[in-house]
Amino acid sequence: MPTTAAMTIQKNAPIPTWFGIGGRADRLLAVRSDDDIRRGLEIDRAALVLGDGANLLVDDAGVGELVLAMEGYCGVEFADGSGVVAQAGADLSKLIHETARRGLAGLEGLIGIPASVGGAAVMNAGGKFGQIADVIRRVHAISRGGSEVTLERRDIHYGYRRSGLNDLVIRRVEFGLMPEDPGSLRARVKDVMAYKKGSQPLAASSAGCCFKNPTLRQDVRDERGEIGRAGERVSAGMLIDRAGLKGLRVRGAVVSERHANFLVPDKGAAARDVIDLMEQVERRVLDRFGVVLEREVVVWRRK
Ligand SMILES: Cc1cc2nc3c(=O)[nH]c(=O)nc-3n(C[C@H](O)[C@H](O)[C@H](O)COP(=O)(O)OP(=O)(O)OC[C@H]3O[C@@H](n4cnc5c(N)ncnc54)[C@H](O)[C@@H]3O)c2cc1C
Repeated sequence: MPTTAAMTIQKNAPIPTWFGIGGRADRLLAVRSDDDIRRGLEIDRAALVLGDGANLLVDDAGVGELVLAMEGYCGVEFADGSGVVAQAGADLSKLIHETARRGLAGLEGLIGIPASVGGAAVMNAGGKFGQIADVIRRVHAISRGGSEVTLERRDIHYGYRRSGLNDLVIRRVEFGLMPEDPGSLRARVKDVMAYKKGSQPLAASSAGCCFKNPTLRQDVRDERGEIGRAGERVSAGMLIDRAGLKGLRVRGAVVSERHANFLVPDKGAAARDVIDLMEQVERRVLDRFGVVLEREVVVWRRK
């Protein structure tokens, strides 16, 4: 294996994702320090950053860019009061349980979202019970050129599942949480988890919702009635369901019967099956309702 200083670059490395399918990285570097990140970016300025792989589909041919895995960035510091600083590779669910245990409120609505802290900050992970941007104070990152960047929350262009941070390598995130009774926080964590278990196929391999909920450009209705009015954000899952696509299959990939915005591969399916299914869903929703679905899932392909 080629090494630079103390770093080891793995060749032909698997890329672990929640889909559990897809190609490999020609080169993968597990980073443990800011110097590792900088050296990785010196080797490949276009390096791809891997979090928990929960929103990622890697095409079968894999990727040629260096992949930076944030494995060594797992620490969390609790400052006096309600400040928390988490490294980008820290597991979001563990962080939520720990903040609830310590009586710090603000993250508990995100339970059930598999993510690293960095991946959640980039995707602005969230849903019915809030989004991570609501409790972020500051993000520390490294630019493609290797310089340190600190961004205040007000300077980050957060929107629905969007942050504008994609070109940076996030290394730490500071949160501002609120003191609250740990018992009621733990109860809220349980309630949110119960809601998710009841409405999503959490046990299946997937990347959660494949498509963002679109804002309608025109009123949309079908024979069952109104789906939404122009300017309204509606559920992509509902559009897919009302287009009759639950259970739609392309080879080894199927639209979940439980939640139409989850596309689920069979064991051994190819990433291409999921990509073709995504394309078919997009086409059929456009034909049926005139609505363009934008992908939430990030797809890595060989260039
Ligand atoms: C069962 C299931 C349920 C889900 N439910 C939800 C939900 O309710 N709401 C929701 O918003 N999402 C949901 N998701 C999607 C996913 O959990 C989120 O998008 C999450 O934020 C992805 O984080 P990650 O660490 O896995 O990122 P990855 O999938 O590893 O990466 C996603 C993107 O972030 C970038 N990235 C990751 N880390 C960094 C970093 N340190 N610096 C710079 N860029 C980085 C990657 O390059 C990639 O572009 C679900 C997924 C699954 C599997």
